[in-house]
Amino acid sequence: MSMKRMESTMTCHALRLRPGEELKTKLLEYVQEHGLKAAFILSCVGSLRKASVRMADSVSVINVDKNHEIVSLVGTLSGGHGHLHISLSDEKGKVFGGHLLGSAEVFTTAEVVLGELPQLEFHREPDPESGYDELAIHKRSNQNINCASNDSNHEGLCTDS
Ligand SMILES: [Zn+2]
Repeated sequence: MSMKRMESTMTCHALRLRPGEELKTKLLEYVQEHGLKAAFILSCVGSLRKASVRMADSVSVINVDKNHEIVSLVGTLSGGHGHLHISLSDEKGKVFGGHLLGSAEVFTTAEVVLGELPQLEFHREPDPESGYDELAIHKRSNQNINCASNDSNHEGLCTDS
C-alpha cells in the first residue's frame, strides 16, 4: 500500500518549564495557546520528581515519586491531546520508559523544543485495527494558497477534504 505524501515545512518553539509544573499539561497549554495543530517534541532535557508511566503491556503503570532525569521525550501534540513516550533514569543511571500518562512534575527544569508543521494538522481518530484512537494526519485547510491555480507545486498544500 502506498502512503500519501504529507510534507510540510517546520517552525520551532523553545520553552522552559519551571519546578512543580506538570509537563504534559504545560505542553498542551502551550500548544492550545499558540494555535499549534501539528506539534511534536524535538528535544526535551530536564528532571522530574514525579511521573506516571504506562508499560508496553498497556496495563502496568510505574509511578515515580523521586527525582529522575528526563533522558528522552518523544511524541505528538494537538487539539488538547498529547501522545508522549518518555525515558527516565534514576540515581543509579537505570533507565526505564513507556507511555507518559501524566503527573510528570518538573524537579529543576524542563528545556523543551517543539516542532510545528504549518501545512499539516494532527487529529486522533478511532482505528478498528488497534482499537485505540490513533494519529490521523491531514493537510491543513486554511492555507493562503490559490488552490485553483494550475501550478502543480501547490497541489500538495490544498485541502482534499
Ligand atoms: Zn503510547
